Amino acid sequence: MTTQISALLTPAPSTAFERGTITRRAVRPDDVLIKIAYAGICHSDIHNARDEWAPGMYPMVPGHEIAGIVTEIGKNVTKFKVGDRVGVGCFVDSCGQCEPCRTGEEQFCDQGAVMTYNSKDYDGEITYGGYSTHIVVKQDYVLHIPEAIAFETAAPLLCAGITTYSPLRHWKTGPGMNVAVIGMGGLGHMAVQYAHAMGAHVTIISQTRSKEDDGRHFGANDYRATSEEGTLKALRGTFDLIINTV
Ligand SMILES: [Zn+2]
Ligand SMILES: [Zn+2]
Repeated sequence: MTTQISALLTPAPSTAFERGTITRRAVRPDDVLIKIAYAGICHSDIHNARDEWAPGMYPMVPGHEIAGIVTEIGKNVTKFKVGDRVGVGCFVDSCGQCEPCRTGEEQFCDQGAVMTYNSKDYDGEITYGGYSTHIVVKQDYVLHIPEAIAFETAAPLLCAGITTYSPLRHWKTGPGMNVAVIGMGGLGHMAVQYAHAMGAHVTIISQTRSKEDDGRHFGANDYRATSEEGTLKALRGTFDLIINTV
């Protein structure tokens, strides 16, 4: 049994989005049904919608920065209950058996993780993302969102956030470290805030000074513009870690 869900979809590459319906599977024993409150717009959504990262499967419903509320749970679900605030990121399944899956690196699944949209699940069904009213996801690929974080703030953390948090954490960012963040767009502005919160000395490297006020507001200690003569030469050898978001 399946359910018809309202969605914003693009029927072919580079066409406008339109309102339509998609089919979601019925909730299985390990699934949760989520009523979506917000979905971030990741730049990869734009690339995928335009079929710039072929092969695109159409109609396509992008969105992998999803925040919402659990409205139904399968009979084997233990991690969530109806009413929980939850999020879903870039992928919604993996084999669960291989070495990467068993060590918490499901994104590197040997079978290929099932991406949240423009992907095929293990039954061969095309996946549809967060530009829709509801999504059905296996509980292991759903995260809790704390009360203190608003849905619209939490959603972009599910892709842009984790993308920059992961290397900062991996390289043990902390007090006494000099961290550079190259570029201050969707990813960079997250990296700056995380690195600052982790206690590092943070330098933003951007093309111009246009984002300096924002950057310092986000916690940067220093800001350099590559359009200014000699910027990179002066910084040579000064950083412990460089996060390149360009
Ligand atoms: Zn993304
Ligand atoms: Zn696997």
